[in-house]
Amino acid sequence: MILPALMEAKSPYWRPIKYSLFPPLGLATLAAYCSPDDEIDLQDEHVEQLTTYDRPDIVVIQVYITNAFRAYLLADHYRKKGVYVCLGGLHVSSVPDEALPHADSIFIGPGEDIFPQFLSDFKRKTTRRIYQNTERDIKNIPPVRRDLIKRNLYLVPNSIVVSRGCPHHCDFCYKDAFFEGGKSFYTQRVDAALREIDRLPGRHLYFLDDHLLGNSKFATALFEGMKGMNRVFQGASTIDAVLRSDLIEKAAEAGLRSMFMGFETLSDDNLLQSNKKQNIGKNYEDAISRLHSLGIMINGSFVFGLDDDDKDVFKRTVDWGVRNGLTTSTYHILTPYPGTRLYQAMKQQGRILHEDWDLYDTRHVVYKTKGLSAEELQLGYDWAYRSFYSWSNIRKASWQHDKLKHAVKHFAYAGGWKKFEPLWNFMIKTKGLNKMLPLLEAILSKVDIGNEQDAGRSPFPAIA
Ligand code: SF4
Repeated sequence: MILPALMEAKSPYWRPIKYSLFPPLGLATLAAYCSPDDEIDLQDEHVEQLTTYDRPDIVVIQVYITNAFRAYLLADHYRKKGVYVCLGGLHVSSVPDEALPHADSIFIGPGEDIFPQFLSDFKRKTTRRIYQNTERDIKNIPPVRRDLIKRNLYLVPNSIVVSRGCPHHCDFCYKDAFFEGGKSFYTQRVDAALREIDRLPGRHLYFLDDHLLGNSKFATALFEGMKGMNRVFQGASTIDAVLRSDLIEKAAEAGLRSMFMGFETLSDDNLLQSNKKQNIGKNYEDAISRLHSLGIMINGSFVFGLDDDDKDVFKRTVDWGVRNGLTTSTYHILTPYPGTRLYQAMKQQGRILHEDWDLYDTRHVVYKTKGLSAEELQLGYDWAYRSFYSWSNIRKASWQHDKLKHAVKHFAYAGGWKKFEPLWNFMIKTKGLNKMLPLLEAILSKVDIGNEQDAGRSPFPAIA
C-alpha cells in the first residue's frame, strides 16, 4: 500500500514538517479488510524511501491531485512487472478516465464497502476494472490497522477520523466529487469511535474529520463519552456550528483545544459565489470570542482569488486575523479541482489555464483571475504568509487574548510551529518526531481560567 509523495512535499521551498504530520490513515483503514495472514507493507513516501524493487501480489496506491503523475509512474512500474495495481482516492474519483489506463482496478468514492468486495473478487480471480461505492456505511468497519503505521515518523500519529464527508456543499470543495452517487456525510457508531480513541496511546488526538460538529447528535454523544478520558484534541468545524448550540462547550469539556475554521473570505459576494451558505450573515467575531472564551485556539483557513477580491485583500485578511487573535492561518490560492462545481463553471467560461495537476496545490494560480492579476495574486499570497507569521504579528495576535496563559500558549504554538524549522528538520532526520508530542500536549493542556492572572502586561520580549 503506497501513499506517493505530493509534488510540493519534495520541493526544496516547502517545509518537510508539514508532510510529516499525519500517517496514511485511509490506507491503514483499508488494510483492516485484509486477512490476518496477508503480509502488508504500508509505505508513505513523505517520510520514507519507497522500496519499488519488490513484487507483491497487489499494489494499492492512494492518489491525490498533486501526487497523481507520480502515482501513475509507480502504477506503470508495477504493472510492467506483472503486479496487480489498484488506484483509489480523491483524484481517481474525480477523473476516473484519466486513472483507468494506469490500473488494473480503480476505486471510485470511499474505499470501505468496495475494498472487501475487491479482495474477495481477487481471490476468486473475478476482479472488475471499476469499483464504485454507493453504499456509504461505516457502522461496522474493522479497527484501523495502526500496527502498520510507523508512529515515530509522525508528529501526530494519533490522527483519527470518525465520520466521512461534510453536510455542506461549497463549490470549490473536493468533497462532492468524491462522494457523488451516494451519501456525502455519515458517521461511525459512537461506541466504535470511543473504542478507537481508547486504543490510542498518550493524550493527544487530531480528528481529521471535515466537520467534527456536523452531526450534533453524534458529536454530543462522542464528547459525552470522551469526558474523563483525559484527552486533548484538535479538529475542524464551521462558524455556523460554533454559534448554533452549546455543542462547542461540550467539545471543550471533552478536551477540544484547537479548531480549524473555514472563514475562507471576508466578502459576502465571495461567499455567495462559492455557495458557502453556512458562513453568510454569520458573525465571525462572535464565533472567535466564543472559542477563545473556552480556551480553544483557532487555525483560520482563507482562500484568495475569488472574483470579489482586489489587491488589498491580503492586507485586509492578515490584519483581521491578527486583530482577532487567530493562532495560525492557512492561506490558499483558489484552485478549481476537477470534479467540483467551481471547475465546471471555470471550464465553461474558458478560465482554466492548464491541467498540470502538479501545480493544483493551492499555491499556484491555474485559472484566469478577475479582480486582480495572476501576479498580484501570487505575490499577495506569499506576502500574506510572511506577514502573518512575522514575529511582530505573532506577538500582536497572541496579545489579543485577555488571559495571560492563553497569550503564552498562542505565542508558543504559533512561534514553535513556524519559527523553528531547523529543530523540526533535525527531529525528522533522527526519526524522533513523535518525541515532540509531550510538548504539544503541554501547550494544548487546559488553562485554568478561574485563578488566572489577567494579561495586563506583555509576557513577550519586544521582538520586531
Ligand atoms: S464546509 Fe468545508 S468540508 Fe464542507 S463542503 Fe465546505 S469546504 Fe468542504
